[in-house]
Amino acid sequence: MSLRLTSFALLLFGTQAFAQKPPNIVFIFSDDHAYQAVSAYGHPLKLLETPNLDRIAKEGMRFDRCLVPNSICGPSRACVLTGKYNHANGFYNNTNSRFDGTQFTFPKLLQKAGYQTAIVGKWHLISDPTGFNYWHILPGQGVYYNPPMIKNGERVKHEGYTTDIITDVSLDWLNKRDKDKPFLLMCQHKAPHREWSPALRHLGHDKDRKYPEPDTLFDDYAGRGKAEREQDMTIAKTMNASDLKLTTLATHTPEQKKEWDAYYEPRNKAFREAKLEGKDLVRWKYNRYMHDYLGCIRAVDESVGKVLDYLEREKLSENTIVVYCSDQGFYLGEHGWFDKRWIFEESVRTPLLVRWPGKTKPGTTNANLVSNIDFASTFLEAAGVETPKDLHGKSLGPILKGETPADWRKSFYYHYYEFPGPHSVRKHYGVVTDRYKLVRFYEPGVDYWELFDLKSDPKELTSVFDKAEYAAVQKELETELARLRKELKVPDPDPPETEIKANPKKKDPKPK
Ligand code: CA
Repeated sequence: MSLRLTSFALLLFGTQAFAQKPPNIVFIFSDDHAYQAVSAYGHPLKLLETPNLDRIAKEGMRFDRCLVPNSICGPSRACVLTGKYNHANGFYNNTNSRFDGTQFTFPKLLQKAGYQTAIVGKWHLISDPTGFNYWHILPGQGVYYNPPMIKNGERVKHEGYTTDIITDVSLDWLNKRDKDKPFLLMCQHKAPHREWSPALRHLGHDKDRKYPEPDTLFDDYAGRGKAEREQDMTIAKTMNASDLKLTTLATHTPEQKKEWDAYYEPRNKAFREAKLEGKDLVRWKYNRYMHDYLGCIRAVDESVGKVLDYLEREKLSENTIVVYCSDQGFYLGEHGWFDKRWIFEESVRTPLLVRWPGKTKPGTTNANLVSNIDFASTFLEAAGVETPKDLHGKSLGPILKGETPADWRKSFYYHYYEFPGPHSVRKHYGVVTDRYKLVRFYEPGVDYWELFDLKSDPKELTSVFDKAEYAAVQKELETELARLRKELKVPDPDPPETEIKANPKKKDPKPK
């Protein structure tokens, strides 16, 4: 151990009798990755194998109930960075929020404590990143091929597939870092976000497999209300020509386009000639969606493998916490849907796999209600840095060490704000427990409650709100929801749009 690191560690762990290296943190974050598409979760449809993600689960802990406070890209990222709900960090929705980079974020405190901090890939918080020694991000949503990126404020161009580029830039930063200091790397993929464009090497990865269908692919939304019936996120009606690769992708080079078209064109020709209708047409779209979405995940899984191999090769594995998570869940045809946004299970639940050698028993699973608001406290505690008192999340440290605190949360508050907005999912909030979900849609004209019993109705098909046999449960959940809203100081009514829009979007810098 170098003299420099020893004094750094002594500074952090000053009260301890011996110096201990603070752990490195590798946070791998994907966008819209459904837990149904991680083989470690053992999805019954067996959509694909994800050997590298499964490696994290095998060597660490798989969380089966990691919930997000607001199931959408930007807000979820703000929750990760601040450990707080969106009404506290000010980033309510993707439509018009802008992240206030002057507020607390955990990378800032790690940086202050001597960590080298880097973020590579999708940022999606509009303002420039703060608290990072190095940032190399996609502007906005980013693109799948040949992405322009912004490196510490300067626009740069890359050629290739975005998932691979984010991986290479991340590993390059790791290589060049100051090896005497601990590090935080946030490696954040665009994939598998819409429009699900796979790498050229993964075109045809499924050998034209016919995918098994979720049994709610043709859901009629009976048993639920107006919000569920009137959304705009179905495979049948919402998926467009670009989603389905029936149009050309604008960002390809001529060489990439040639290879791309060689895969899609013959299949698209056959599709046009078949003139499919009704359920057959939906089934065709679902299969195309699965080929593309799962193809994107193959590249993410390979990226995870490359990062794990690097840590191994550099002998960093033992003292590095590796986290894999998505910004929320995603629908893979369940209820006829793609996208996210709802408090319902496929949307609110995100995959979470954590490896922490020496602390977390390999191959363990956990069913506690945990959340992405817990990451900030977890990382700060692991680094020996004092955690601010006003965070909404709690450290996952004890759970990762196999000891869930007796007072761990038994209920979780959820709140979605983006209406009007893409996919027309109505504003709603609610409370989730290990067995129940109480939901309130609260806009004029779409104002109603729902209650779901996940034990008797795991697919959340029939609300039992106001059913006599659930009266006691309903009352208990209503009380709990009110308690959570009070404890979390949720504004009621929602803050005015003028406040949500207080930080209007600015344009990305022009390419050089
Ligand atoms: Ca997302």
